[in-house]
Amino acid sequence: MVNKKMISETLSDYDEDLTIGVLCSHSALQIIHGAKLEGFNTIGICPKERKETYSAFPKAKPDEFLTVDKFGDVMREENQKKLLDKNTIVIPHGSFVEYVGAENLLNDFKVPIFGNRDSLRQEGKRSKQREWLENSNVQMPKYYEGPSEIDEKVFVKFSGAKGGSGFFTAKSEAEFEEQISEKLEEGLISEDDLENIEIQEFVPGIRYYPHYFYSPLYDHGFNMDEGSLEILGMDRRVEPIDEIYRGLPDLPEEFFDYTVTGNEPLVIREKLLVDLMEIGGKVIRESSNLFSPGLVGPFCLETVYHPNRGFTVFEISGRIVAGTNLFPKGSPYSTYYFDEPMSTGRRMAREIKTGQEKNLLDRIIY
Ligand code: AMP
Repeated sequence: MVNKKMISETLSDYDEDLTIGVLCSHSALQIIHGAKLEGFNTIGICPKERKETYSAFPKAKPDEFLTVDKFGDVMREENQKKLLDKNTIVIPHGSFVEYVGAENLLNDFKVPIFGNRDSLRQEGKRSKQREWLENSNVQMPKYYEGPSEIDEKVFVKFSGAKGGSGFFTAKSEAEFEEQISEKLEEGLISEDDLENIEIQEFVPGIRYYPHYFYSPLYDHGFNMDEGSLEILGMDRRVEPIDEIYRGLPDLPEEFFDYTVTGNEPLVIREKLLVDLMEIGGKVIRESSNLFSPGLVGPFCLETVYHPNRGFTVFEISGRIVAGTNLFPKGSPYSTYYFDEPMSTGRRMAREIKTGQEKNLLDRIIY
């Protein structure tokens, strides 16, 4: 188990010239771009076959590559040593969680990372996410213990980063069973997926994905006991179901698909920011109860808003989300915090720089 004390010791052995490291996937271009703008050395941990692509964006090209056969190899002793020798702070993103796994990260990854690594464990499992949101006292969809309880339209999900693939809706137990058999037959889901099924109330409304950033070091945002909370951007994911009207009037089955394929930018009616700030604040406060001292840095809440029932939060990501890739030069919200264009990637580098200047790296690196 890697503990905070070990990371603090590693940090105290690092010299001034820090390197920011990232797996070449997910939001790496944005993170590298932002780190370079803040004056850091950068290293891209990259499978051979991706190197050409990750060299092809000059302003987001890492200063150097650590070439691996596969992402999971970042865990190998020799690769960790190379990162440590370069005073690296790794920024974890969705692909890091997917390819390395939260448990590996917690147990064996000795390289310091930006943010509290416990937040990755907490967000990595649907049951733990649910605990986090429930304890935060935010409105959530109703949950069903099993298909026999289905009494209204429900939304059925599987575990892991499946990106919405195979998810479906049902109105009764019979419809649920029918859909499961069909999906098993089509190979869209496996028997293993059935172990970790989640049945939620289907929440009608408009989806908003606010990109938050909690900083214990800055006090210019939404006031928290320590530090402050920023909203750096907002997006909505695009999924085939969004375009279902194009199949009218006969609605081809294939439009009933929730697989995330991209993101589009969004601003929200301004008065609703009041609710979003409050909800984000509650989630941060609860994180300090669940895994002290709580989440640091970026996180995203997946919400549905309906004028009759307000915001319902159906998922949480305790790290940078890919929707932030829309805003490498800042967003309609980040504009109100900084004079220069500020992406979430750059914001993390800025926090690290501020931590260095104020001698508070220990508060933001875990
Ligand atoms: P998720 O993997 O939880 O982000 O879900 C993928 C997609 O499924 C979302 O972007 C929504 O379109 C849809 N979705 C998830 N949960 C619900 C829900 N409770 N009600 C309605 N739609 C949902």
